[in-house]
Amino acid sequence: MKRILSITLFIVIALFSKTIAQETRISTKGFAVFSGDGQFKPYEFTRHGVGDNDIEIKILYAGICHSDLHHVRQDWGKEEFPMVPGHEIAGRVVKIGKNVTKFKVGDMAGVGCMVNSCGECEFCKEDKEQYCKGVVMTYHGHDQFHNNERTQGGYSNNIVVTQNFAIKVPANAKIEKVAPLLCAGITTYSPIRAVGVKKGDKVGVAGFGGLGHMAVQYLVALGAEVIVFDITEDKRADAKRLGAVRYVNVNIPEDLKELNNTMSFIISTIPANYDPSTYMKMLKLDGQLCIVGLPATANAPSIRIDQFVWQGGRKVFGSQIGGIKETQEMLDYSVANNIYPEVEVIKPDGAAITTAYQKVLDGKVKFRYVIDMSTLK
Ligand code: NDP
Repeated sequence: MKRILSITLFIVIALFSKTIAQETRISTKGFAVFSGDGQFKPYEFTRHGVGDNDIEIKILYAGICHSDLHHVRQDWGKEEFPMVPGHEIAGRVVKIGKNVTKFKVGDMAGVGCMVNSCGECEFCKEDKEQYCKGVVMTYHGHDQFHNNERTQGGYSNNIVVTQNFAIKVPANAKIEKVAPLLCAGITTYSPIRAVGVKKGDKVGVAGFGGLGHMAVQYLVALGAEVIVFDITEDKRADAKRLGAVRYVNVNIPEDLKELNNTMSFIISTIPANYDPSTYMKMLKLDGQLCIVGLPATANAPSIRIDQFVWQGGRKVFGSQIGGIKETQEMLDYSVANNIYPEVEVIKPDGAAITTAYQKVLDGKVKFRYVIDMSTLK
């Protein structure tokens, strides 16, 4: 009898604790794709609750990055569905854990591509968490610190994140334009800073979209002479307006004349197949080509190994987003210097997001779609 009583008590306590644990989870509304067809539909799910070091952010705006399209279309490999994309997030802090010192309720905060990392490896110790093998991506990831649950992104009304991976957004920031800085901004700012571009340098930006138009603004702010490369006539005037000295439509052979051996730095944000050696040839001695664009694996361009020798004395390197410390630096710098993406704000609506994806694919966006999550009912 005693044994039956204690088993019953154990079951009651277990059920009770499970209920409490479930209660602490956060209910979230968002938009997901349920397969690679790219059709967004409303989706409700839960996130882990606010732990001692966490903050809960009410998401106000979420940017649509071309990487989101790559994930949804499974350009880089098989993905899990339903998937709520979104790693360009800006919002307001609505709840904080008891150990949180970096934020208070009411502050503005941003989240980029990562929500956590191991904190112990050489990359984490050097503030380059993006290269940590245990990094937890904002979506399409599994959170090793929360029972390996799947992470879901910013096309939703809230997110819970450890304070160390949330970025402080200055109160005077133009909040509807902040979200894309968390990915498009840092991905271009980081290599531009690493290379040390300076006033008067002749530099190039290949691919003039979400990332590319941020690169142009950072380079112009440093006093560089910027040449923009893209495949359309639609953006020629925009490049000049943002301060570029020349616009090259790579589909017009005349436009490409007299560029070889002229530039000290080129950043390629191109998301499709192209010939990277075209840009290697444009570098002068000691020049550097940084690749950040990530075309679909099945359609990825390659560089013949001998090109590195024929174009010897130049460097080609890749770069992934930026660490949390540098992301904060980028955001503070961008706001202080009034450097923002040009955004088109769309409604929080499955059909509107689906249409926006198609327009990005068709080259019809200038320059970033941002979803207004603040008006989600
Ligand atoms: P966008 O679609 O906004 O911009 C891409 C631009 O490249 C468009 O203007 C497009 O023209 C142009 N383009 C396409 N083909 C060519 C070509 N052959 N030559 C020159 N320009 C071309 O994409 P994003 O800026 O959002 O992202 C760009 C890439 O960067 C993506 O592959 C994305 O996944 C990657 N990325 C990488 C990160 C990293 O950490 N390394 C982080 C974030 C993104 P059009 O519009 O006319 O098609």
